[in-house]
Amino acid sequence: MPELLIRPRRDVVRGPLMGDPGASGRFGEYGGRYIPESLIGACREVEEAFRDAWADPGFRGQLDRLLATYAGRPTPLTPAIRLSAELGLTVLLKREDLTHTGSHKINNVLGQAMLAKRMGRTHLIAETGAGQHGVATATAAALFGLQATVFMGAKDIERQELNVFRMRMLGAQIVPVTSGAQTLKDATSEAMRHWVGAVDTAHYCMGSVLGPAPYPWMVREFQRVIGDEARRQCATELPAAVPDYVVACVGGGSNAAGTFAGFVDTPARLIGVEADGGAGASKGRLGVLHGVRSMFLQDDDGQVTEAHSIAAGLDYPGIGPEHVHLRDLGRARYVTVADDEVVAAAVRLARTEGIIAALESAHALAWIMRGELPPGSTVMVTLSGRGDKDLGSLKGAL
Ligand SMILES: *Cc1c(COP(=O)(O)O)cnc(C)c1O
Repeated sequence: MPELLIRPRRDVVRGPLMGDPGASGRFGEYGGRYIPESLIGACREVEEAFRDAWADPGFRGQLDRLLATYAGRPTPLTPAIRLSAELGLTVLLKREDLTHTGSHKINNVLGQAMLAKRMGRTHLIAETGAGQHGVATATAAALFGLQATVFMGAKDIERQELNVFRMRMLGAQIVPVTSGAQTLKDATSEAMRHWVGAVDTAHYCMGSVLGPAPYPWMVREFQRVIGDEARRQCATELPAAVPDYVVACVGGGSNAAGTFAGFVDTPARLIGVEADGGAGASKGRLGVLHGVRSMFLQDDDGQVTEAHSIAAGLDYPGIGPEHVHLRDLGRARYVTVADDEVVAAAVRLARTEGIIAALESAHALAWIMRGELPPGSTVMVTLSGRGDKDLGSLKGAL
């Protein structure tokens, strides 16, 4: 995949925020479809199939039912009573950690697996870093009788043994990627290359609001169930119906995009929290990677660099294009927190609320714990996943 630097263009903003980006697949000057000729047809086909499915009440009903009967939705909105008292805020937690497989990723993969079936595909191809999206894809593939092929950097395979076993248990095939740094970026490039030769039988199941159109839009739509549910739940929990702040962690940005979609037309302030070492929006530069024009961490030659975070799920050097657009418009704000704040936040949540959050999710908590919010503010935080997988990294902190 090409990794080049492109100068910004000043596009005119049209249409409602977080709506359908249309055929261009652009969010302002970001997004689009920067892919080899051989994938253009496949991406168009995915877009057409998704457009058709998303307008079909039958498909929507079937997905809703699956989310309810299999994934455990709706997830609760939990008032964090003791933490709220300590912080002088009203904190509500949207509990994606309570879904089947333990994170929001299940919402997206169930949608894409249903779409793959509808398109007559027999295989799912996915990239994975820490293995969370790989496990989710393997889960959805097993449920639908599809074959999952998961590309994973050789270094990540070594580091994430448990998730490799999970995927094997679920019947997925794992392809080790030994090019480049042998991590997520290389695994994604290799997975897209593999798709070129398998477009007739395989659906590429992208794990976040990244990649060529229609993926950033489609994945946001599959994740908007988080925001839509939370919006309804806030209406009964809060006298003002809408919180002052809506906060979510950002790797590629799918749990944040799904959360924001439910609140973008309200006065709530939208805050995306990135890892210091994986801050596409805060520290990236405009570029193209894996088929999308967005912000990526790059060196002076425009080569995309490695991201580093204590939370493996935030270890991606870029951010979804729609987030950069929301930032440019001033509708959402993106901030970063450091690893040590994240660990402290995870421990504090565990000890005040009895909830062990994923270190990714703890980024969002770390930001509200800084004490910078006006006293008495109401805050809705998306808890994107549970923290069992991270206990090894926390050992030193306890
Ligand atoms: C993968 C993951 C993330 C980051 O992905 P987004 O696309 O930014 O949501 C966040 N939290 C958890 C628990 C994850 O597994």
